[in-house]
Amino acid sequence: MPKIPVLEMFGPTIQGEGAVIGKKTMFVRTSGCDYRCSWCDSSFTWDGSAKDDIRLLEPEEIIAELDALAPQRYQHVTISGGNPALIKNIGPLVEALNERNIQTALETQGSKFQSWMTQIDDLTISPKPPSSGMKPNLPILDDVISQCVEESLSLKVVVFDDDDYQFAKDIHARYPSIPFYVQVGNPYLDDRVSNHTEKLLEKYEALIDKVMNDTLNDIYVLPQLHTLLWSNKKGV
Ligand code: SF4
Repeated sequence: MPKIPVLEMFGPTIQGEGAVIGKKTMFVRTSGCDYRCSWCDSSFTWDGSAKDDIRLLEPEEIIAELDALAPQRYQHVTISGGNPALIKNIGPLVEALNERNIQTALETQGSKFQSWMTQIDDLTISPKPPSSGMKPNLPILDDVISQCVEESLSLKVVVFDDDDYQFAKDIHARYPSIPFYVQVGNPYLDDRVSNHTEKLLEKYEALIDKVMNDTLNDIYVLPQLHTLLWSNKKGV
């Protein structure tokens, strides 16, 4: 059975982002990313700092560990990264979870497609805006989106500044039929930041004001919920 590089598993907790915000879920975090975003809050998945924590696990081993972590206490699993869409071998895990009536979610930046993504219940594609320092390849994004199941798909753009906001508008205009979320960015990745929640709420309010005074409609405006609650704490 093919193995999956897993960095951490935790939960149950709430999903803090996107269309399934607030949903009770477990997290399985895989290693590796093809991007290097300037504000990445999970750079340990790709910068080598946690390479000794990577375990190659079979789907049944992952499910056994989730069961041990939260017996009878979960029915939804979020596969996160890094970029899990780099990993061809996730299909059997998604199938095994589906067979047990456990729903799945995935977040990816949309740079790669894997056929197992069509079996994901809650698929968030999150193209990275200019402040990330990355430049999404839009024809590739078109191709990835065209292969996904539209009913399970949503788009999310994180916004730190005006250029990001314009990028979000362009993405929404490019894919107008796909549910669209903007989420306020968290520029305070230092663990010692004080009044983190208050600072993030100020930025969230500013983003709400911007959207309300603009023609950007048919849109959801979100905070990063787990950061409001737990700041930059990992594994929650
Ligand atoms: Fe980090 Fe996500 Fe960017 Fe990869 S795509 S570098 S995991 S923020």
